Amino acid sequence: MQATSLSFCSVVGNAADPLIAREHAEPPHPYRSAFQRDRDRVIHARAFRRLAGKTQVFTHRYSDHFRSRLTHTIEVAQIARTVANALDLNEDLAETLALVHDIGHPPFGHAGEQALDRQLQRHGLRFDHNLHALRIVTHFEQRYVDFRGLNLTLAVREGIIKHSRDYFAAQHPELAEYLLDQRPPIEAQIIDLADEIAYLTADIDDGIEAEILSLDDLCQNVPLFTEFYRRLQRSHPDAAPKLLFHEALKRMLNALVNDLIVATHRRVSAGNIHSLADVRQAKERLAVFSPNMEARRHEAKQYLYAHLYHAEDLENEHVLADTMIEGLFQYWMHHPEQLPTSHETQIAAEGAPRVIADYIAGMTDNYISEQWNRAQE
Ligand code: MG
Repeated sequence: MQATSLSFCSVVGNAADPLIAREHAEPPHPYRSAFQRDRDRVIHARAFRRLAGKTQVFTHRYSDHFRSRLTHTIEVAQIARTVANALDLNEDLAETLALVHDIGHPPFGHAGEQALDRQLQRHGLRFDHNLHALRIVTHFEQRYVDFRGLNLTLAVREGIIKHSRDYFAAQHPELAEYLLDQRPPIEAQIIDLADEIAYLTADIDDGIEAEILSLDDLCQNVPLFTEFYRRLQRSHPDAAPKLLFHEALKRMLNALVNDLIVATHRRVSAGNIHSLADVRQAKERLAVFSPNMEARRHEAKQYLYAHLYHAEDLENEHVLADTMIEGLFQYWMHHPEQLPTSHETQIAAEGAPRVIADYIAGMTDNYISEQWNRAQE
């Protein structure tokens, strides 16, 4: 595959670029670009470190070999950098957005997110991990004497909100500065697909390791994987199945990344896109898989939904996550005086349900389990 340049529609990120604007003006750094600084701020944030203690799909009960939300995040950043580099996009921006993309996730993976959302809905509110991530980087992180939050550039804050879904101005007037009627830059658009590639391949890997998925079953149901596995069986008839599996999975990941690069380039060329302004006005997102790869990706994901994400062993953990989050949420609704005292002013301003959700969302799996055990005493 030829490397292809889309530099004409990438985020420039130089001193004249309005996308490097920060809420609080800061002098430029002598040798780090605005997005390199943002990347470093994210890496040094407390919320980033907590990702190490949060479930991606498998809790630590299974094995320490499995992905946590932190190692998943690093895998997404690796893929996003590769894609951004191959397309000549702004690699520092793409890397920063990948590193921050899951920072708003509560403990216990998607089960935790759904449980928290269910509690908030009873009070007419919702939990949304992108919006929570924005609250973390603009408000909860406190590391600077002159302002709250990390004071990230506009491009990074916009990407946090818009990388995976569209928000509408009528429902979110508070997000007006993030240009909700426009597409995000391609650097933000690739994050969602880099995320898809990372978790699709990682969940197959961890699912096999956990012995919830079987190699035979995988070969019968996921053609995107099987194609590489069968080819390797023919070329390496004496290799151990485990090595063939790893090699095939690596090739599947590579095929997805290649396809994302080529299909995105093709869509930009076909769409008469000549600038970032064109990207923003485009009718549809420009970062895509080809239709053929999209169909095979979808097929693989459906397989994981049917055989992994709702497997009995994992569902038992989902029920436990739901029980803890509901139990603690209700407990603090009835006993807000038991929350850390720093939350008092926030409760007056935003109400107890939102503050309790923020508090729970920030917890690691371990910490919320400790809180739960203490509440049972
Ligand atoms: Mg993710």
